[in-house]
Amino acid sequence: MKNISSGKVRDIYEVDEKRLLMVVSDRISAFDHIMPNDIPQKGILLNQMSAFWFDYVSDLIPNHVLSTKLDDFPKEFQNESFQGRSMLVKKLKMLPIECIVRGYLSGSSWKSYLQTSEICGIKIQKGMKESEKLPTPIFTPSSKAHSGSHDENITFEKAIELLGEDLSEKIKSKSIEIYDKCARYALSKGLIIADAKFEFGLDNNGELIIADEILTPDSSRFWLLDTYEIGRSQDSLDKQYLRNWLSMNGYANKLPNYLPQHVIEMTKSKYLECYEKIMGQSFEVII
Ligand code: ATP
Ligand code: MG
Repeated sequence: MKNISSGKVRDIYEVDEKRLLMVVSDRISAFDHIMPNDIPQKGILLNQMSAFWFDYVSDLIPNHVLSTKLDDFPKEFQNESFQGRSMLVKKLKMLPIECIVRGYLSGSSWKSYLQTSEICGIKIQKGMKESEKLPTPIFTPSSKAHSGSHDENITFEKAIELLGEDLSEKIKSKSIEIYDKCARYALSKGLIIADAKFEFGLDNNGELIIADEILTPDSSRFWLLDTYEIGRSQDSLDKQYLRNWLSMNGYANKLPNYLPQHVIEMTKSKYLECYEKIMGQSFEVII
């Protein structure tokens, strides 16, 4: 099997010229480093959420998924350890930008708003508070960094330089449409999707396809509707708990030798809570 890349979280194998196998590991990264311990079953959970959302938005855009069933994979890829955590996908020509949609003011966009009243060149009305819902979701693309460096926010004009006007307009409107539909669904399940990152690619016919992973706690920010309050940062159902633990224990810039069991369990419970709310069923039922 040809392993063409190992990201921080996923391993990718080239099946043939048309297909890839993406295997989601249980690894977790924080502050750009892979942690010394895994979060058990995190990869299965992420893979299943992503598959759910691809299907949920299939009326808006075609996706890269060919199958998530081990039985459908070519024989040499039917590895038991891939069960539940892998996707056979169409190999695409990926667009060199990450499509980020923000529905709420938080994180780096909150900081940028405080300094300039703008986010990625988009003017935002005065007087907004941290975590407040934006009047309308905004599209804030970033250029895809090579491994080891950070993605960089770019303006929409820069995206047009990279992709041309038609394609830029198309990925912008598609991204917002997808975000809108999914954010509405999540709200009905008690979760706010504060922001989301999408990646698109083109197939051999030049058709726009949504790829990578979507709307997982590794690529989006989910907040609990019950405890949501503007004017402060929110508890998000992802690795924020881990990041806080690392910061408080002096590991913001160096890797710990191991993660204590309670940190692993607490982190897992955040991912599980997100999964169970979105999927409307307990995780154990479907693995
Ligand atoms: P990080 O660990 O920081 O996310 P990464 O993005 O390089 O690093 P992965 O997310 O594991 O690592 O890698 C997935 C790579 O595969 C990305 O570069 C993504 O753009 C690419 N990709 C996703 N779907 C497809 C596809 N259908 N065809 C071709 N490439 C794809
Ligand atoms: Mg990635």
